[in-house]
Amino acid sequence: MTLDELKTYIRDIRDFPKPGIVFKDITPLLTSGPAFQEVVDRIAGRYRGRVDMVLGIESRGFIIGAAVAYALGLGLALVRKPGKLPHERYAARYELEYGSDTLEIHRDALGDRSRVLIVDDLLATGGTASAAIELVRRLDGDVVACAFIIELAFLKGRTRLATDDVFSLITYAGE
Ligand code: AMP
Repeated sequence: MTLDELKTYIRDIRDFPKPGIVFKDITPLLTSGPAFQEVVDRIAGRYRGRVDMVLGIESRGFIIGAAVAYALGLGLALVRKPGKLPHERYAARYELEYGSDTLEIHRDALGDRSRVLIVDDLLATGGTASAAIELVRRLDGDVVACAFIIELAFLKGRTRLATDDVFSLITYAGE
């Protein structure tokens, strides 16, 4: 499936979750077996042999991250919203396109692995992914790359991400 075809599975929802936001809804993509598989195969294929842990950001990052981890035969580290992780953890605060929040990680989330691929559904301002990068660094991990299905390039989120490789399948130059 081409990237142009893949793009047809992403639905714009205007004024969600609040006025002025164009929400990129990936549920049509998840509904399609071939489209979901295409996303996972493209991300997994690019990083096979280059990483030893996948990190998914709650919650849509879990869906893609878990599938990429499985495809690569790797484990999955979780970055979650506050109050969800039961064991010892670190926290990082970040600014979101709509509000601000905190993300957490278990201190033993990487085990003895260190080459990390961070996965989320969408890169907007980069606040979320930069918090995930900060958390990986706190665990002495090396962020090999951040991978997304969608990048809202007009928000310039990639300039905030302190990693050499910021990869996205589908880029929107404007809203
Ligand atoms: P940011 O921290 O600004 O890069 O925002 C990225 C996070 O917020 C991702 O986890 C996305 O799922 C979510 N997000 C931000 N903007 C949108 C949008 N326009 N459509 C869908 N999800 C979004």
